[in-house]
Amino acid sequence: MHKRTSWYSLFILVCLPIFLAKADAPADIKAYTQANQAQILQDFKALLAIPNISAVPEDMFKNADWITAYIAERGFTSEVVTAGGAPYILAEKKVPGASKSILIYAHFDGQPVEPSNWATPPFEPTLIDKPIELGGKPVEWDGKAPLNPQWRLAARSAGDDKGPVIALMAALDAMEALNITPSVNIKLVLDGEEEIGSPTLEAILKEHGHKMDAELMLFCDGPMHPSRIQQLVFGMRGSMTLELTTYGALSPLHSGHYGNFSPNPTDRLMRLLTSMTDTDGNILIKGYNDQTRPISPAEQQAIDNIPNIDAQLRHDLAIAESLGKTVRVEEGVLKPAIIVKGFQAGGVGSQSRNIIQPEATASLNLRLSAGQTPAFLREKMEAHIVEQGFVITYDDPTIEMRRENKLLAKLEWRPGPYPAFRSEIDSPEAIKLTSIMDSLSTEPTILTPTLGGSLPIYLFEEALDMPIIILPIANHDNNQHGRNENLRLQNLWDAVEIYAAILSEYDR
Ligand SMILES: [Zn+2]
Repeated sequence: MHKRTSWYSLFILVCLPIFLAKADAPADIKAYTQANQAQILQDFKALLAIPNISAVPEDMFKNADWITAYIAERGFTSEVVTAGGAPYILAEKKVPGASKSILIYAHFDGQPVEPSNWATPPFEPTLIDKPIELGGKPVEWDGKAPLNPQWRLAARSAGDDKGPVIALMAALDAMEALNITPSVNIKLVLDGEEEIGSPTLEAILKEHGHKMDAELMLFCDGPMHPSRIQQLVFGMRGSMTLELTTYGALSPLHSGHYGNFSPNPTDRLMRLLTSMTDTDGNILIKGYNDQTRPISPAEQQAIDNIPNIDAQLRHDLAIAESLGKTVRVEEGVLKPAIIVKGFQAGGVGSQSRNIIQPEATASLNLRLSAGQTPAFLREKMEAHIVEQGFVITYDDPTIEMRRENKLLAKLEWRPGPYPAFRSEIDSPEAIKLTSIMDSLSTEPTILTPTLGGSLPIYLFEEALDMPIIILPIANHDNNQHGRNENLRLQNLWDAVEIYAAILSEYDR
């Protein structure tokens, strides 16, 4: 009897708390978050009140100081490092007994602001009841009842991208209060210059990359799926820019006197551009798609599982038919694209004159898909232009060149091309993360193979040897980069729960 009681007590002492902690942890975290909303919101406001335009280094260092002090209270050691640009914060929290690490990325700089365009001052975080565009107004919180989860906090970087730091620390506070130990060490890399393209990130990685060793990198940035279902993103498109100029006569010519005699550079440029793609946007340049990584069966399955928003998108955007007709938007972004984003050749309306222009210029945005390298695409693009009969120059052509060459094209490749990146959607790390996310919701996690935008994630992919998965937490309508940027409060509370679940369960 005595023995049985002691075994039983031992069971209660050892097993039950573990069992309970596992079974109830998400509910407890939720309860903690709800009880501590005021404090979390106050911390968020304090961080958002520090201006963070990356072109102003003093402000970026103020942000870095605030963040390092804030995370030090949660047991992080950190260093603020630079490579001739804005500061980066590298931080680590070692967890006794943990053998794996997760590396978390977020950025704390924001886009420039034009305060007169904002309904509330961009660096005076203000609660609003709904998006300003939908008639939202500032609201006073009585400090008592739970905050309305549909309210938003409006300030520059509320949605992009100061939320992760606050939500992550709130998650650690909650875990500490509930006696839940993280299952992994936590490393942070916080970028102070993301909005200007992280120009010194490569140098930072070269010097400090060895400190970022981990099993998995979570890239905490970007907006969530419009359905508000939790989401993981495994890739981003790459991007490069080409300016293309074609030539006619040396000076503007009377279109009556010289039409049908002197070549028209506008016509030449239009024909060259239309030779690059078909009307569905498929690229016709020889060999251009040779490097493109095909859509894997797991990726295709993931796309099929995503709620289809194409009809709604077409309606909202007022387009009768999408390119390729049956191509879903999630598939479209997996393909390379050539977008004519600008075209300049004479004036229209009151500016139009009856002349043949001496030159015409187009600006092209090439969107890269996974596997494609900028150098390879440049080679294929140039071969195509030559095949159309053009002689290529990289500088303004001389008068002799113009006299001698029937077709001349000046190419200006803009510096800083971004390759795409795409992690495996069915890697063991991805599967583990997906199952943790799934456990928090009745809806299965949306797994998006690639988002359309471009981020310098490829630099991490090149420098670090680990899967990189994007975990967006911001509402899709956060007005990222624009006026009245905001974070919906429910997104902040959800983020606390998601981070807590990942940290406690990843290597449990
Ligand atoms: Zn961002």
